[in-house]
Amino acid sequence: MNPVTAADLEAAIRNVPDFPKPGIQFKDITPVLGDAALFAGSIDLLASHHANSRIDAVVGIDARGFIFAAAAALKLNTGFVPIRKKGKLPYKTIEENFSLEYGEDTVAIHEDALKPGARVLLLDDLLATGGTAAAAAKLVRNVGAEIVEIGFLIELSFLNGREKLDGHPIHSVITY
Ligand code: AMP
Repeated sequence: MNPVTAADLEAAIRNVPDFPKPGIQFKDITPVLGDAALFAGSIDLLASHHANSRIDAVVGIDARGFIFAAAAALKLNTGFVPIRKKGKLPYKTIEENFSLEYGEDTVAIHEDALKPGARVLLLDDLLATGGTAAAAAKLVRNVGAEIVEIGFLIELSFLNGREKLDGHPIHSVITY
């Protein structure tokens, strides 16, 4: 069977207009997740270029990032570390605020989740304005770990989210 391509994933992703509010076109990845070949292919496209380099942990961003990061961690034979919305992690955390279109949000990581110097692959489903990923990257750096790459299944390049990511290497499987 031919390997899954980014075009195969793009064909499966469903565009939902005006969700969760008017003017937003939501990229629904559930058709990718629900198809065994596409789901496996999405993880290959996100992670397999790291198979021969040292990655110590895959960090995923709440909530859809967890799906890709957990599967990528299994593929790369590493642990998985969650970055969650404030108030969800039970142990001692460090936090980072960031701006949303309207208002603010906060993400958090357990203070002992990553070893100093750990080489991290940071994953989320989608890069939009970059606020979420920039705050997550800051948390990873603040616990003393090193970001090898920030990976996304989807990048909405017209929102220029990359500019917020401090020069970290970025890998997007599908770019709109
Ligand atoms: P941002 O901080 O603006 O880069 O937003 C990124 C986060 O919001 C990601 O965790 C995405 O899951 C979610 N998100 C933003 N825009 C969309 C969209 N158009 N479709 C699906 N998810 C989105």
